[in-house]
Amino acid sequence: MSRTILVYAERRDGSLRRVAFEALGAARRLAGDGGSVHAVLAGDGSAAEDAAALQARGADVVHIADDPSLKDYAPEAYLAVLRAAMDAVGPDALLLGHTAAGRELAPRVAAAYGAGHIADVTAIEPSPDGADVGFIRPLYAGKAFERRSFLPGHPWVVTVRPNNLPPAEPLDAGGSGGSVQALPYAPPPLWTAVRGVLRRASGQLDLAEADVVVSGGRGVRSAAGFEPLHALAAAFGGAVGASRAACDAGYCDYALQIGQTGKVVTPQLYIACGISGAIQHLAGMSQSRTIVAINKDPDAPIFSIADYGIVGDLFEIVPLLTSEVLRTNQ
Ligand code: FAD
Repeated sequence: MSRTILVYAERRDGSLRRVAFEALGAARRLAGDGGSVHAVLAGDGSAAEDAAALQARGADVVHIADDPSLKDYAPEAYLAVLRAAMDAVGPDALLLGHTAAGRELAPRVAAAYGAGHIADVTAIEPSPDGADVGFIRPLYAGKAFERRSFLPGHPWVVTVRPNNLPPAEPLDAGGSGGSVQALPYAPPPLWTAVRGVLRRASGQLDLAEADVVVSGGRGVRSAAGFEPLHALAAAFGGAVGASRAACDAGYCDYALQIGQTGKVVTPQLYIACGISGAIQHLAGMSQSRTIVAINKDPDAPIFSIADYGIVGDLFEIVPLLTSEVLRTNQ
């Protein structure tokens, strides 16, 4: 079974997001032998710099829209880019990251092309002959999963949750030998304009893409109490998250909140420190590959979903973990 797959290679702050490579990896599997993988890049002068990285990982054709109107993300402009790419490629499927932009663009493209849409996919299971493809997605905050397939006759639009699918590996021969093409893109009228971006500079990795997340809850007790968690996250090269109670108490910024009304993360390792394990928190982290809980209450509900539980005082345990990680890093 061979298909033509288009990937939206999302960039942020002038670089490709990791989920773009995860979507590319999925695209290569879905394309099958004899299929083709196209990627679309958008930016205001620097997008072409990323074409080689996509080709090295299997994009046969990279379509580039470089225009001043694409400096900041605007849904109308980026939708116009995707429409131009859809028209140029006529793909069987469009894959995007399940990011803020991907969530906004995917249903618009699906509506414009009469396509089916499956969102927030965490696993892709093609049948042995590749003809049928199951897309697995969590429901009810991860308490259930559904396996959904597209019916024949329509293009597919799929968003993939960051940090779940294996990224495309570099090709042995150093690249697909494919081509780069300028996309015929005419800036559409915009309905809104970005006047400025106010950034709370945490300087840390994007939580959604971090391999290791060290999270603190009310048990951390203060903003200063988060310092040992930052040190542990830094030792792992990971990011710090928080429960809503910790954010509400002013210990950290709401940008770090994980859960039903915060971010959803699926790192390789999630370390919950002083977090009780309320259902609303679990909604944002229960799909993490390995969960470690540190809590002084042996009956804390977080232990019921933890792979490893440490009953004790986080202020004693976290620094010990940090020094051990630093020692093994040497
Ligand atoms: P607590 O439940 O107070 O737990 C603190 C834990 O720290 C305790 O288990 C305690 O034993 C432990 N502890 C204390 N001191 C130490 C120490 N020194 N060492 C080790 N352990 C210690 N919550 C979220 O997190 N994310 C959400 O997105 C979210 N959305 C919500 C949406 C709605 C509509 C509602 C109603 C609630 C939502 N909540 C959310 C809140 C949620 O219900 C809980 O109140 C919250 O998750 C509790 O945070 P916590 O575990 O940090 O605090």
